[in-house]
Amino acid sequence: MDAQLTEEEKRLVEYSKEAIVKYNKIRHAKNGIDTLYAFLMSESGKIYDGAAFEPNLSHASFCGERHAISNMVLQESYKAKIKSIVVADPVPDIQSRGTPPCGTCRHLIWSFGSPDTSVILMQYIQGKNGWIFPKLEKFKISDFYPLPYEPKEGLWDNWEPK
Ligand SMILES: [Zn+2]
Repeated sequence: MDAQLTEEEKRLVEYSKEAIVKYNKIRHAKNGIDTLYAFLMSESGKIYDGAAFEPNLSHASFCGERHAISNMVLQESYKAKIKSIVVADPVPDIQSRGTPPCGTCRHLIWSFGSPDTSVILMQYIQGKNGWIFPKLEKFKISDFYPLPYEPKEGLWDNWEPK
């Protein structure tokens, strides 16, 4: 799938590239390594950052997408909506396909978005002189999650995703 980006998506992609370099430099300065990042643009046009959280307790880990979504909810409430999200994964060399969101994140991107919310898979590579971004692929969340789970009863009675 070709990456035909809207102007807003181009802005989100350019922002993401700069943020990846900034955050990776911070991580490397403390002997850390590259990680999966997510950057989303809400309907308001604001951008929220996220990175995979991988502490020393595996069940406490969560994905970069969910980190970015929870930052959006913190600033804009549970009524906020995702217009577009970049999922950026470090790769050793160009892969035939970027890393798509996991099942849980597909559900949450759908819940906090619309069927047309764009999901941009970005591959990035650490080179000798910094990081390069050789491949983008653009999808809609409905490509990844065509038959959404829509809980309507019990504990979820007060949940109003739409
Ligand atoms: Zn996930």
